[in-house]
Amino acid sequence: MIINYKGQEINILIEYRKRKSISIKIDYDLKIRVLAPKEANQDQVMNIVESKLDLISKKLNEIRKLSQEQQVKTKNDTQILYMGKKYFIKIVLDKNLEKSNISIQNNDIVINTQNDEQEQVKNIIKKYLKKQCLKQVKKRVSYYQSDFKSKPKSIKVVESNKFWGLCNSNRDIQFNWRLIMAPIEVIDYVIIHEMSHMAHMNHSKSFWKMVAKIMPDYKKQVEWIGINGRYMNI
Ligand SMILES: [Zn+2]
Repeated sequence: MIINYKGQEINILIEYRKRKSISIKIDYDLKIRVLAPKEANQDQVMNIVESKLDLISKKLNEIRKLSQEQQVKTKNDTQILYMGKKYFIKIVLDKNLEKSNISIQNNDIVINTQNDEQEQVKNIIKKYLKKQCLKQVKKRVSYYQSDFKSKPKSIKVVESNKFWGLCNSNRDIQFNWRLIMAPIEVIDYVIIHEMSHMAHMNHSKSFWKMVAKIMPDYKKQVEWIGINGRYMNI
């Protein structure tokens, strides 16, 4: 549901779970995700959420401001995340260049281009990150394949503001290209999570048991992506 609070639209999603208390958190897509005990009724939950609206809206404003500042990320000497590490963007303008190219050199992501307009540079980086993401997830999917009975039917890297990974009942797995900005253990977690959906199409106890068996410290990665996910963009 969408609530209008002091001129700000706040998107609230309530999920009822087997749990004792209410937790409220801001997702990377800026939705407010409320986890409530199964027994709680919506009025009770909304009362608690409303009492926190002031805090939530302040936090949302802070995040929006931060991400606006981060908008100018594809300029020379700004930093972007790649596999959990920060790299400086170095733009080399060459009007005579036939085709732009991009490569990683030490701590820099070097872009040789005939057009250094922000949009153009952003597209070059994005295309590169998408390609690297597909390469990396394919590599890690085969690395973990022996832990699973079935194989993914297809693996794709897509643009999404809603998910990091997705697996349908056909075993087609999709990954958000921005995942390539995360450290390898976080990428691995999302891969294990989606591959485990090939066996369990839900988030049941058996599903999480499967994830934990392959990656005992997976909660650490869930936490990392919860905190850093919203900054993983260019
Ligand atoms: Zn899932």
